Amino acid sequence: MAAASSQGNRILRGIPVSPGVCRGKTFVWRPADAEVPRWELREEEIPAEIERLERALVDTRRQLLDVQRQVREVMGAEQADIFDAHLLVLEDRVLVDEVVRWITRERVNAEYAFHRVAQKYMAALASVEDEYLRERVADMRDVTNRVLNHLLGRAHGIDLSHLRDAVILVAHDLTPSDTIQMDKRKVLGLVTEVGSPTSHAAILARSLGLPALVGVSHALQEVISGQYALLDGFNGTLILNPSDQVLFEYGQLVRRQITLEEKLREVVAQPAVTLDGHRIPVLANIEQADDVEAVQACGAEGVGLFRTEYLYINRDHPPSEEEQYEAYRRVAAALCPQPVIVRTLDLGGDKFLSHLVSQQEMNPFLGWRAIRLCLQQPEMFSVQLRAILRASAEGNVKVMYPMISGVDELCQADVLLEACKQQLRARGQPFNEHLETGAMIEIPSAVLVADVLARRSKFFSIGTNDLIQYALAVDRMNERIAHLYEPTHPAILRLIRMTTDAAERAGLRVGVCGEMAGEPVLVPLLLGLGVHELSAAPPLVPQVKYLIRRIKLSEARELAAWALQQESAAEILRRCRALAHEAAPLLFQSRRVDL
Ligand code: PEP
Ligand code: MG
Repeated sequence: MAAASSQGNRILRGIPVSPGVCRGKTFVWRPADAEVPRWELREEEIPAEIERLERALVDTRRQLLDVQRQVREVMGAEQADIFDAHLLVLEDRVLVDEVVRWITRERVNAEYAFHRVAQKYMAALASVEDEYLRERVADMRDVTNRVLNHLLGRAHGIDLSHLRDAVILVAHDLTPSDTIQMDKRKVLGLVTEVGSPTSHAAILARSLGLPALVGVSHALQEVISGQYALLDGFNGTLILNPSDQVLFEYGQLVRRQITLEEKLREVVAQPAVTLDGHRIPVLANIEQADDVEAVQACGAEGVGLFRTEYLYINRDHPPSEEEQYEAYRRVAAALCPQPVIVRTLDLGGDKFLSHLVSQQEMNPFLGWRAIRLCLQQPEMFSVQLRAILRASAEGNVKVMYPMISGVDELCQADVLLEACKQQLRARGQPFNEHLETGAMIEIPSAVLVADVLARRSKFFSIGTNDLIQYALAVDRMNERIAHLYEPTHPAILRLIRMTTDAAERAGLRVGVCGEMAGEPVLVPLLLGLGVHELSAAPPLVPQVKYLIRRIKLSEARELAAWALQQESAAEILRRCRALAHEAAPLLFQSRRVDL
């Protein structure tokens, strides 16, 4: 979005994706391979620098062999062979000799020399006709990053450990692998140049309760690390060097927010019951076992979505059955008897596993993702299913399959689940024989065959983040078309209604665990369309409960019946807003500041 200036403040605009206001110093983060330091060497330092390079190559080779061995054990020889190409890059003497020549002739450090030579190779490979060679660019990039990590002694992802105070983090994009190890206590708010309300940065910000903006174009050019700024996650602005007047205006807004938070604290211990007496379970979405404390603190009634892929990313081998069992067990035991819906691995799309998804795909969201990937990796999938089954002995665990497009995938997953049960019986390990399995409804084809899926599921959970992207053909990560990503599009309402109708005929309950469920404005519409329960990021749970306690289910049904007759997404959104604002004005009063 364009930058503008007012009252001497520099204002950058973006898409507000997580509410709240924060102020502090900025920290601009650029991906690892964009920042390779260069320094000059003295003549006598050159031999030691070449030795340092050789050592990094040996360490990288050892690391790759280790990964290859682990992948062979878990996923078989074919997947492990992928690493032969990586190892060949390291053994390429022509490349290594050229790096050594750079160090010697240019008298530059090893990381800079390696980076320059690798860039040249990648550019050459990318331009050849031969498809096989072109695909080697990804291998080369992976190996280059590993070698540079060894040379620079840096871990994958964003390292904020050197910062004394928390910062407003500004980045081009924030992927799960960038942020998984990041010290979240050092972050006041997030700003990215790309993304949309359902991109990882937005979901992360909401789950941490941090204000955030996405789609702030040229943020990396405009913002300088260390600059003082104010981030308004309600109205979508990042104000650089805010004036005293602006700080005063926002001081008022922050005070209104504090009043609201006090009110919201009251609903934590109260159930979400509508004014006409319907109880709506509100659950929480989590990404790791540690989030269980946030679930308890926000007053959620269990976990409606445990995104398990975060256990898998940024590591050299998949987590073992024991490690996964421990994570799922911890959550299940802490919340028992409340339900914990564990979603099986949803890698692919924007969530990559460094050693597994090594090929660049043209359309990752339409590609080797989620249940498709798991069914082709049965050994790895079974490790997870056994861990979930074992955790089911310790709490109210349910399992949910992501990206189901038709009944065959559901059947194949169930066959594997049954085999895992047999293995556990043979081992004498306990599990819940009646473990419930559910399907995520997030692909339009799943909606169309929901009646068939309902015969083989115990529950449905609608993943609106993906359902909207696939139904409207709008990439959920792309800020340029974010305006087309419309949750109130008539087609989306019909898809949700078709799902709840099919579920009702089969006697199934339907939840929503996409981001729509955490937006108070849209909650009455979802309930009116026949959704039984909602699952949202923990910081959003109190406002969802607060809103539910101030509406009648009958008026939500009237709203939905009216909306299903409408043609315009904007018109539907307007009426949803009007209803929510009238029912719970306090939730919205404190959001606006005009600059
Ligand atoms: C969804 O698609 O709505 C969902 C909850 O899953 P994710 O955002 O992890 O794809
Ligand atoms: Mg999804």
